[in-house]
Amino acid sequence: MNTLTAPTSSRPRIVGLTGGIGSGKTTVLQLFSALGVPCLQADRQAALYYRQDDFLLDIRRLFGDSVFNGSVVDKRAIASIVFNDPHMLARLNALIHPRVARDLHRWCRLQHAPYVIFESAILYESGLHTDVDAVVAVYLDKAERLRRLQLRDHTSPHELEARMRNQLSPEELLDRADYVILNYEGNPRQRQVTTIHNRLLLL
Ligand code: ADP
Repeated sequence: MNTLTAPTSSRPRIVGLTGGIGSGKTTVLQLFSALGVPCLQADRQAALYYRQDDFLLDIRRLFGDSVFNGSVVDKRAIASIVFNDPHMLARLNALIHPRVARDLHRWCRLQHAPYVIFESAILYESGLHTDVDAVVAVYLDKAERLRRLQLRDHTSPHELEARMRNQLSPEELLDRADYVILNYEGNPRQRQVTTIHNRLLLL
């Protein structure tokens, strides 16, 4: 997809913002937000479901009582199951991603702006790229991402590599995205964001 597709209604266009863990999505999102663009983060949206009864019921049906401490989900217990079982991961995702898509569109219809940003580290992997009109990817190579993440989270390289394996490579993102932000120190992020913002406003 090289251009924004025509919106089917008067809703704002939805622009996906993606990039591997540590690429700088959150930092870039703040720049779009500072320009007045409404922003929704997939992770934050998904976290809300763990307080909703219908979702908790689905989780109990899928994983059983062992992933609950009373009425509260033990997310680490779920993580340790899905980390080792792609089938269960797919079933968990099938509970989460359609809800995120539904809420993205509901939220979008309430926004008054030419476009909104929907940020997700796994935009393509989740299939949610089909819900957006254009994609902006933040690009940074793996070695530099690992370096920044170790500074940010003090997470072990082994754990980070495991998480990265579930995400598209930066090169695949480059191929698929409509707009790319290079997030190296020599590349002025603000200018790249402003350029893309101006193009998104025109389309
Ligand atoms: P993501 O949301 O993609 O996981 P973040 O936005 O949290 O990534 O960025 C990862 C880390 O790199 C953070 O500590 C952030 O402050 C740092 N960072 C982001 N962009 C840059 C940059 N251009 N130069 C140096 N450090 C950066």
